[in-house]
Amino acid sequence: MISLEGKVALITGASRGIGRATANCLAHLGADIAILDIDEQAAAAVDEIRAMGRKALFIHTDVASHQSVRAAVAAAEAELGPIDILVNNAGIVKNIAPIAKMTPEAWQKELGVNLTGPFNLIQAIAPGMAERGWGRIVNISSAAAKGGLFNQAGYAATKSGLLGLTQNVTLEYAGKGITCNAILPGVIGTENVMAMPGEIFDQAVRMVPTGRVGEPKEVAQLIAFLCSDLAGYINGVDILIDGGAALNTVVLGSRKALRN
Ligand code: NAP
Repeated sequence: MISLEGKVALITGASRGIGRATANCLAHLGADIAILDIDEQAAAAVDEIRAMGRKALFIHTDVASHQSVRAAVAAAEAELGPIDILVNNAGIVKNIAPIAKMTPEAWQKELGVNLTGPFNLIQAIAPGMAERGWGRIVNISSAAAKGGLFNQAGYAATKSGLLGLTQNVTLEYAGKGITCNAILPGVIGTENVMAMPGEIFDQAVRMVPTGRVGEPKEVAQLIAFLCSDLAGYINGVDILIDGGAALNTVVLGSRKALRN
């Protein structure tokens, strides 16, 4: 049975989507929650967690800014106590263009939020975890870290970079009671994904052997397990959660003929 009773979790980008589902799931398992986000909707997420009887707060923070992250972590620890669990979830996927047309500003923006952001948070939080001898860090990467994503070179590169960061955090901190792992979601039914044009959505679902998109809470439950004592020996790995979409789905011949 997973319990996060007495733990303090900091989750970035938890105003909605996977982050919000994670905040709810970890709170349900007993953790108090700090949400760092640039979206004011996070206030509603905080209300939801407080209604479960847990402590929660929202600090408006741009994860790409080293100074804002330092100030936010200090404010969260002053209110809730030392951070035991860090979930680097905030990410942007808005820079869609062929490489030849991608602007340097858009590239830098994605790098700032998706890769420098987790670095800023880890640098601010991991040393304290090490002093206390226990910590859990989960970085939300993407299936795009391994397979790329057409016209999203910036996004895919930052998500691959996050795997390198994950491995190095493990090498530096594994002996201090800290685990650091990455999760690679496939297509998950968040607000953004559900708002995709029907044709693109259907095409995405056709690539998933499980036959549907994942639910944010399914990703949250995997994160919760990695944050628990049960997962103390899982370290430095990346875990796909994609309904089998990374598999080779080519069928040589008709499925009907092959069954006979
Ligand atoms: P989402 O719904 O877009 O939510 C992300 C949250 O992060 C939003 O509240 C967003 O605020 C916030 N944010 C953006 N930039 C920020 C910054 N600089 N500092 C702090 N917060 C910031 O995301 P999601 O779809 O749940 O995805 C969560 C994570 O999973 C991301 O890292 C994403 O790359 C990854 N992922 C998602 C999928 C999927 O299918 N959904 C698949 C693979 C990987 P705004 O609303 O103001 O932008």
